[in-house]
Amino acid sequence: MRRLPIYFLLDVSESMAGEALYRLEDGMGAVIKTLRTDPHALETVWISVIAFAGQVRQLAPLTEVASFVPPSLPVGGGTSLGKALSFLMDEIDRSVVRSTPDRKGDWKPIVFLITDGKPTDDVAKAVERWRTRYAGSVSLVAISIGHSADLSVLSQLTDAGNVLTLEENTDANFAKFIQWVTQSVQARSRSVGDISKEEKLPELDKSILTRLNLDKPLDRVDDSNAFFVSKCQKTQLPYLVRFEPRTARINAGQTSFDSLMYVLVGCYPVKNSYFEMSADQPNVATVDSNQLHGFPSCPHCGNPVGFAMCDCGNTFCISGPGEQTCPWCRQTAQFSRGKEGDPGVDLTRARG
Ligand SMILES: [Zn+2]
Ligand SMILES: [Zn+2]
Repeated sequence: MRRLPIYFLLDVSESMAGEALYRLEDGMGAVIKTLRTDPHALETVWISVIAFAGQVRQLAPLTEVASFVPPSLPVGGGTSLGKALSFLMDEIDRSVVRSTPDRKGDWKPIVFLITDGKPTDDVAKAVERWRTRYAGSVSLVAISIGHSADLSVLSQLTDAGNVLTLEENTDANFAKFIQWVTQSVQARSRSVGDISKEEKLPELDKSILTRLNLDKPLDRVDDSNAFFVSKCQKTQLPYLVRFEPRTARINAGQTSFDSLMYVLVGCYPVKNSYFEMSADQPNVATVDSNQLHGFPSCPHCGNPVGFAMCDCGNTFCISGPGEQTCPWCRQTAQFSRGKEGDPGVDLTRARG
């Protein structure tokens, strides 16, 4: 039997934590549900899910639709696209049966690469390997969630027509996008072997998904969201605190100046797999704590202060002032409220 291998290469870096990741998980479920009702898909489609952040992990090996169970998605720090592509190419070498003169191999695989960030590792070698050995024999569709992904890297992997941007990631738009992915798989499963139809993707809803236009300058990459990884003192579990940069005009007597501040936008519980999925290198980017506005409570235990700073440089949740034990370094110390005008403390940002 000749299989149609479908790979989902999913970015699970911090910036995807929360809504985006829930939508992606539900979306994978919806893809499978529809394919299970399609006799062509049931007969030919095999699916694999590979997640990447700082590290890469295959969450599901190539599995036929009938017995495929959508995996839950981890979160990690970093966006190692180079590592992810290398992993994918090794996996294709291992699992996809190539045709030989006396054996018919699998149909041409499709890869859906879904990302919302720019690579934090070196991608040049992997891109080169992809272009010389895989680009001709594997279809790749790259989808940027929002406008933060590095489209110049994505456009090196595949034709501009296969680089898509999901303009606004709302529930409704994402559901339509998932429908489009499902239709793409269904269409291919019907036309396998028919080279004239094989490369055609279904029509896009242009108000939601746009194709890369090489005549226009590429969007500047927005990498300025600040993420902090904090730990719950009670459960020892990590959570991510996300701040968005804003510029505020400060009036000071005769003069006024722009001041950069970071405003709290969300706080998301994650599992300990966060550390396994994160890049090996320590985080280096820092933000002055005086620039941060808004502080979260703990999403694991509900402690009101989710952002107490220990001498070890890490943050964790506390119930209030008093004796507290840091879940990172195990030191016990007295905690008090920070005073107005305290010198700021540099916080280490996660890699995004
Ligand atoms: Zn807690
Ligand atoms: Zn500590």
